[in-house]
Amino acid sequence: MSRRTLVVGNWKMHLTASQAAAYATQLRIALEANRQALESAVEVALAPAFPALERLGGALEGSSVALAAQNVHSEPAGAFTGEVSVSMLEDLGCRYALIGHSERRQLFGERDAEVAAKALRLLDSRIDPILCIGETLEEREHVATLEVVRAQLEAVLEATGDGLAGRLVVAYEPIWAIGTGRTATPELAQQVHASIREALGDRLGEAGQQIRILYGGSVKPSNARELLAQPDIDGALVGGASLEPESFAAIVSSSLENP
Ligand code: PEP
Repeated sequence: MSRRTLVVGNWKMHLTASQAAAYATQLRIALEANRQALESAVEVALAPAFPALERLGGALEGSSVALAAQNVHSEPAGAFTGEVSVSMLEDLGCRYALIGHSERRQLFGERDAEVAAKALRLLDSRIDPILCIGETLEEREHVATLEVVRAQLEAVLEATGDGLAGRLVVAYEPIWAIGTGRTATPELAQQVHASIREALGDRLGEAGQQIRILYGGSVKPSNARELLAQPDIDGALVGGASLEPESFAAIVSSSLENP
């Protein structure tokens, strides 16, 4: 079953529009040596802060690097000061949108119901959701990891039915590994990914096998190859290490090193 590797950089609240344009130039240079091999084997996307989307999109034109949004509102339009709609992101050429990132859940109080509403809204658009799920350290220590991630996944699949099959990307991000330098071992991550795959299969049958499950949590050039070699790890969601074009390019290129 072949699932195309997807590597996504999440810049969070870093890099201005001008910095993003300079980054794009450097990334294109860094990826040039492996361009052909990468284009056939790996999909790459960058999720800058909203103000940088347009400049970054322009600077990436003609490359195969796609644009992703870090968030989106669940309503199509309206009096929602400070929010951004699906059609605004479509207009800027976004291919993906992160939903349910743990920082949104933990710092901004986003709940499963809101994440599911965003997934439903994206169903009506050309933007595919990258659904982030993951457990806290406390949940892991109480051996509830699988229940937590399955519940987060179920909340979305319950709302969308099989409408998202073929379009959904899942990102498993153990919260204790995000921005901490602590990474799940490849074996540990694989175990959770296999369980997510099973849950997707239970819900969506064969289509669940096609859904890509990315790992996120302190992925860096030194650990990417081993993580990406796991059978159910289909790519990476990269925070800190995506801020430097060279290290992001090294992570992208490391996916070519796997058989
Ligand atoms: C993230 O924010 O999605 C992430 C995985 O961050 P980091 O790579 O810095 O842990």
